[in-house]
Amino acid sequence: MISTIHPIPAFSDNYIWAVSETGSNNVCVVDPGDATPVIQYLNANHLVLSDILITHHHPDHTGGIAELTRRYPARVTGPKPSAITGITDYVAEGNLVELFGHSFSVIEVPGHTLDHIAFYCADTELDKPILFCGDTLFAAGCGRLFEGTPIMMQESLSKLAALDPSTNVYCTHEYTLANLKFALAAEPDNLALQRRNQAEASKREANLPTLPSSVELELATNPFLRCTQQTVIRSAYAQLGRDPKNEVEVFSALRAWKDTF
Ligand code: ZN
Ligand code: FE
Repeated sequence: MISTIHPIPAFSDNYIWAVSETGSNNVCVVDPGDATPVIQYLNANHLVLSDILITHHHPDHTGGIAELTRRYPARVTGPKPSAITGITDYVAEGNLVELFGHSFSVIEVPGHTLDHIAFYCADTELDKPILFCGDTLFAAGCGRLFEGTPIMMQESLSKLAALDPSTNVYCTHEYTLANLKFALAAEPDNLALQRRNQAEASKREANLPTLPSSVELELATNPFLRCTQQTVIRSAYAQLGRDPKNEVEVFSALRAWKDTF
């Protein structure tokens, strides 16, 4: 059983999620870009690293693998095909990853990178379903398109948007306030968004993480999941200077706007 999921801060705005097993010292970390804060966390809490989950090949998600696996005999699960060194278990769409008695299914979510995957567990023994989504879905935003196309990313985000609304969403970066600023520019009249902006700002003032988010909250406040809403379509129109032809064009216009926001 999973007991806790704790954010280990890394670099300037990454979270390395540490998943603990009930009744043991075992811990799994997700996307350890840096080994040092993970080792400090394990030592301070007398824990042992048993597992690493990797969502994509970027160094801020993989940089700690070598040092961590030198110290601990951890299983390293990551995407295939892959340029990542140190993966022991390659996975693809639909594969199941057993972790502390729970099954996580692998969802391929290309867009930010081509190899990007997410890990989802809807075990009824859990309080709420769990999603580790790396740099694909962020609180009130989404990852930049470094390798994929807008249509790819939009399909990937649609897969995540279709998960159980109560799902806890564990993203890898604390980008929430900047994302909300953009979201409010795209949807100034969205009341849920205005409320969220205030709630998340007070969390940051108290130095608390704004994560995890939930699928339900993202559906209500994340413009990248709201490309069929009239307000978002109007914002895309303003960016394009013409009517967007379809949902993908709305998404694409939003993403391009956010890149220079
Ligand atoms: Zn990345
Ligand atoms: Fe990243």
